[in-house]
Order: sequence, then C-alpha cells, then structure tokens
Amino acid sequence: MPKPNLTLTLTNTLTRAKEAFTPHSANNVTLYVCGITPYDHAHIGHARAYVVFDILFRTLQRLYGDNAVKYARNFTDIDDKIITRAQEVGEQPTQLAQTFIASFHKDMAALNCLPPTAEPKVSDPKVLKGIVAHIDALIEKQFAYVTASGDVMYRTQKFPSFGALAHRKLDEQQHGARVKADDEKESPNDFVLWKANAKSATKLEQAFSPKDLGAKLFSAPGRPGWHIECSVMAKQELGTTIDIHGGGEDLQFPHHCCEIAQSEALLKPGQPLARFWLHNGFITVGGTKMSKSLGNFTTIKDALKSYSAEAIRLWLLQTHYRKPVDYTPAALAAAEASLAKLYATWNAAFKKDPKPAVTAWKGTCSRLNPFRRALADDLNTAAALAELHSASNFLAEALRNGDEQKQRYWRQRMGYMAHHLGLLQNPQAHTAKPQTPLSAAEQALLTAREAARASKNWPESDRLRDELKAQGILIEDGPTGTTWRRA
Ligand SMILES: [Zn+2]
Repeated sequence: MPKPNLTLTLTNTLTRAKEAFTPHSANNVTLYVCGITPYDHAHIGHARAYVVFDILFRTLQRLYGDNAVKYARNFTDIDDKIITRAQEVGEQPTQLAQTFIASFHKDMAALNCLPPTAEPKVSDPKVLKGIVAHIDALIEKQFAYVTASGDVMYRTQKFPSFGALAHRKLDEQQHGARVKADDEKESPNDFVLWKANAKSATKLEQAFSPKDLGAKLFSAPGRPGWHIECSVMAKQELGTTIDIHGGGEDLQFPHHCCEIAQSEALLKPGQPLARFWLHNGFITVGGTKMSKSLGNFTTIKDALKSYSAEAIRLWLLQTHYRKPVDYTPAALAAAEASLAKLYATWNAAFKKDPKPAVTAWKGTCSRLNPFRRALADDLNTAAALAELHSASNFLAEALRNGDEQKQRYWRQRMGYMAHHLGLLQNPQAHTAKPQTPLSAAEQALLTAREAARASKNWPESDRLRDELKAQGILIEDGPTGTTWRRA
C-alpha cells in the first residue's frame, strides 16, 4: 500500500479494545479464520463472516503486499452432522462433503471473496496425523486424559485461564453445573479431543485408528473432536503464534476458548495462540439471530435468486463488522438500488471500453487517504463505501460536463476503491436494468412455496405458484433451484 504511515487498528476481543496492529513479521502476516462444516449449503451468516474477513485480507494485502499475507480457512469435513446427513441421503460422507465444499466455493466466488492462501481439510492425512500427535503431547503433559470408553478429554482444571477470551471464569461456569453420573468427565468444562467410536451414535462410519496415525498414548478408533483441528491447522499452515484469528462471535465460547487451551498448553508460558482475535456480529431476522437451529436462515443460493451477489456484499459492508445486520427485503432492495447507481456511472464512464477492469491501482493520491483511513480504522467499511459513492458522484459530474481529465482522475480513484471493496467486478451482468426486488409479502409467498416443495406438498406449492403468478411474478423450477422474474 503506498501509504505506509497508516496504522491499522482492530478491535481485539482479548482486550475488548481497539489496538494498533503490527504483524510479528511484515513479510509474513498470518490470518486464520474458522471455516464451515460442509453438510449443507452455506447461509447468509456465513456470507457475512467471509465477506468481513475478505475485507481484512484485502486490507492486509494493500498494507503489506499481496504475497506477504497468509490466510488459512479450514473445512471441517469429518463431523457427525456430515455422517448423519450422508446416511439420510444414501451417500458417502466424503462425497457429501465434497459436494458442499464445491457449493461453498461457488458462493464465495459469487460474493467476490478472494480464495484464502490455504484451505486445509481434517480428512487430509497430514492434518489427522498432526491432530493425533497434538493429542499425544497433551496427554503426556497431563492436559488431557483417556476415559474408560476410550475418549480423550481436555483437562480444563489444568488451564486456569480457560474461558478468558470470552471473559468467563472457570468457577462461574462450574457454578450450578454438575458432572452427570454417567459422564466420564472430571469436570463439566472438559471437552472432547478424540471421540471414540464406542459411544458414537454414528459408529463404524469414518473411524480412524490412532495407532495407524502414530499415536502412542491413546488407541480407541474414532474421530477428532471439533476444536482440535483448528489448533493443529493454524500451527501447520501459519506457525505457532499467529497474528490474527477470526470467526463469528458465536465461536468465542466454547470453540475459540478450547483452541486457546489446546494450543497454549504446548507453547512457552505467556506465548499466545493468536495476538489478535477478531469476531464479526450476527445476521438477525427481525432482531433474532439467524441460525440453522432456529430455522430462520436463508442460504446464499436462495438469496441470490432475488438479489445480485454484489448487492448482498454491499449490504453487508454498510454495517460495521462487529454490529448485527438485520436481513430484510427492504435493506437488500436499497443495496440493490445503491449498487445500480454505482454501476450506472461506472458503465457510462466506460462506454467505449467493452471490458472496464477494476484493478488495484499502485499510484499515490491524497484524495484516497480518507478511504484508506476508514478501512485502517477497525475496518470501517461504511465510511469507505461513502467515499466510493462520493467518487462516483464526482465522476458522474465530470461525465455531465464532458471534462475528460476529471473523468480519468475519478475513474482511477473509483476503480481503486471498488477493487479494494470487491465491488463493480461484473459490469456485464449489470448493464441490464435490475428487476424490482421482491416485496416482503412477495418474498414470504416465495419462501412458503419453497417450504411446501421441500416437504413435497405439491398442491400447496402449485397454489402458491398461481398466487405469485396472479401478482405478476413468474416462477421457474430448474436443476439449480427456483428462479423468479416479473411478468
Ligand atoms: Zn476454529
């Protein structure tokens, strides 16, 4: 980035304060973000997390150079949810995981999220061996114990600061919680590192022999627990202490607290797993968190039937990453209109050029300082977007006045900002006038029809299709899902 005097500040969950960020090494800036469990299509909550960390990745790249930033994001491709789902649909778990990894990659590409530098998977033998070696080392140092059924549990009593990231104290957590009689845990906070098949509801599926993977101190065939993979992958991909660890705020506890306990047990006293922890806020629906378990979630693919991917990205960037974002048709429609306005100017400026490219601009310009400062200020994307709109307005004015010099000037600046924000990457798709987005009532009908189809209630599905048609909305069910257009 041509302005090295900029200081990046980030809100560090460890201290709950905005702190100046400097990497351990400017030539090797490391970022780890928890990825998905590929047993279903990703939803809008995932879109938010990965758009937020994509902006961080791009900002670090501008500051330290593209090749200096290492960004790892994992796939939990061995998990009970995958096995259960695979059994339901009669597929192999690995095959099912592959399908949803491909689906996720498609969603990320649509949202203009840059691919991370590494995407480790638990099923990779290198990762499985690393997990087994890490568990062995924890048992050896008495941070873990093997139960009668063959599970390996983390001994949280041995790690007194357990829960500190989420500002929880071990004693508070234990208050009121009791170890059940049939439970083999020493303490209610202890969590599983290795899940032996003996007690698993999905036994015999995807069992690994620890001995075959090099284990010396535990032997029951089974699978890794969820938390351990991130400790191992972060170490394998990025080294022992990483610069930034990120994820959704729901991962703070227990997931990230478990990661810290697992990793730091094997590090020197005082050496952290990560120097900065960043957490993005939730997507809400009418004020309630969007989640799969609450059944109020929208997949990215469903959202893309009604809105363009860049409008979804722009809508997400309008709010600071730490605050919640409410998913409403009105907000998405407004983002679509806002994007259409940017494209109208952008396309007009490049009328003679069939392929206007939005690329990183290497020059210096003080006019860009407010934009850069906004992003360096704890990723203030709302303020950065305001700068993009302002550049677009100046460009529109230069176009009206026929001032070619100013047109060139603002085209460059607008292009730079759009590139950094991952917007205006798809001019061809936006040359046609966008459809008027669905109203809340129309969207409700569409959602109800999808639900009817999912439960194979064909008469209800047909009735809702006719009702939508009467309102001028034509539905088409294709191999990739349902699309709509106005008659
Ligand atoms: Zn993780």
